[in-house]
Amino acid sequence: MLNIKNYINGKLVAPEAGNYLDNYNPAVGEIYGQIPNSSKEDVQKAYQAAAKAFPSWSNTTLEERSKILYKISDLILEKLDFLAVAESKDNGKPIALAKQVDIPRAASNFQFFANAITQFSSEAHESVGLNAVNFTLRQPIGVVGCISPWNLPLYLFTWKIAPAIAAGNCVVAKPSEVTPMTAYLLGKICNEAGLPKGVLNIVHGLGSTTGQAIVEHPNIKAISFTGGTKTGAHIARVAAPMFKKISLELGGKNPNIIFADCDYEKMLETTVHSSFANQGQICLCGSRILVEDNIYEKFKEDFIKKVAQLRVGNPSEKDTNIGALVSKQHLEKVKSYIDIAEKEGGKILFGGETVTVTDRENGYYLQPTIIEVKDNECKLNQEEIFGPVVTIMSFKTDEEALTLANEVKYGLSATIWTNNLNRTMQFAKQLQTGIVWVNTWMLRDLRTPFGGTKESGVGREGGFEALRFFTEPKNICIKYE
Ligand code: NDP
Repeated sequence: MLNIKNYINGKLVAPEAGNYLDNYNPAVGEIYGQIPNSSKEDVQKAYQAAAKAFPSWSNTTLEERSKILYKISDLILEKLDFLAVAESKDNGKPIALAKQVDIPRAASNFQFFANAITQFSSEAHESVGLNAVNFTLRQPIGVVGCISPWNLPLYLFTWKIAPAIAAGNCVVAKPSEVTPMTAYLLGKICNEAGLPKGVLNIVHGLGSTTGQAIVEHPNIKAISFTGGTKTGAHIARVAAPMFKKISLELGGKNPNIIFADCDYEKMLETTVHSSFANQGQICLCGSRILVEDNIYEKFKEDFIKKVAQLRVGNPSEKDTNIGALVSKQHLEKVKSYIDIAEKEGGKILFGGETVTVTDRENGYYLQPTIIEVKDNECKLNQEEIFGPVVTIMSFKTDEEALTLANEVKYGLSATIWTNNLNRTMQFAKQLQTGIVWVNTWMLRDLRTPFGGTKESGVGREGGFEALRFFTEPKNICIKYE
């Protein structure tokens, strides 16, 4: 059994009340450790440590903060293999993916904000003719809360923590209760890197209790949250009467729009990836594939052939493409959508069944699944499934494709495959999403604004947007004679 602890005031501590939750390895479907089920009192202790650290940390020079963030990044890279194995065991994703994507990106998050904070500046406005000059201070908020989901555990946890502490805040953070392991290991890394005690505090536990206590805390003045739309709406309701600053990165139902004039082979290869990477559990996955009708039949045939080659299996094996889903509960949810598809008249073109993996018979494995749907109004096209399930349907005109793409409550990202510049610009301007990829998917530049419109979120992360979120602008107006 691997028991983990909270990280409060630079120390690894047990929860006050001594309550724990089971932690599962989804690849085998067995409990392999326990995690603190932290109470309000634990969150209060974390808050107190953060509040005590704030005056000193917010006055630490940018060079010093930057140096520590670089050190954290270096240590993550030094422990890359170890962290990747831990991430895979907690989440079910292939180790190879964690090595290639999750852990390097967690290191990049610290590296990026270590650099960005030294370049961050604020505005000055001269009031010409009035003998006055304004300058804006960008001051850290104080103690902030960071709450992250289970799909990209260390990757998304650090995407919030790095800008928060770079900007001079102190943090109370909670990773998903389903995947707490690498967050726990991050606490140890922060100590090794010399992060002063109390700057980062990590409390583990259920969203409905531990997470709720963070959001409800009257002195935690900003909440950066990534997770489901329903949880985001709840957090917004709790935070609003306290006038907290909130950043919400929520669900998606992203269209992948394919035109006949695209670079077909590149599109096909990327579409397999954008459909099923991380078992389809990425908020950016292109879960609705829309294909121009003159290549629809060809695409269908080629796509099925490619997807059939994906290997579902043991996340530890090098040639595994699709590992286990994160939990039994999540597997059941995803499967329930496959049942709905059948009731709604959808046609399962490939997959749809759970997979039994040798020596891992109780793991949560599902085939990559392709479902042909007749219309955009069906549940499968309107609700986020967040698993290895994509829908496909055809369209005839640009107008129809655009309508189909936009007629959902979500607005996170969209991908368009075309070599027509005019079409590219028309879609780029009219797609109701925060991110549009053209002839690529998930190509990330950490300087760019990241986030969604409609029910996919409020605010943007990334680059200076994140540093703006984690600071309070204060304008100073000086009148002179
Ligand atoms: P949830 O909304 O269930 O949970 C996200 C986090 O919030 C977890 O740490 C959870 O804790 C916590 N939480 C739950 N209830 C509360 C509460 N009342 N108060 C405070 N915190 C709470 O999302 P999932 O973990 O299931 O993640 C999947 C979702 O995340 C998908 O919808 C996906 O699209 C979205 N997502 C969005 C991204 C984006 O950038 N837009 C990126 C990645 C994922 P616990 O786990 O203990 O319940």
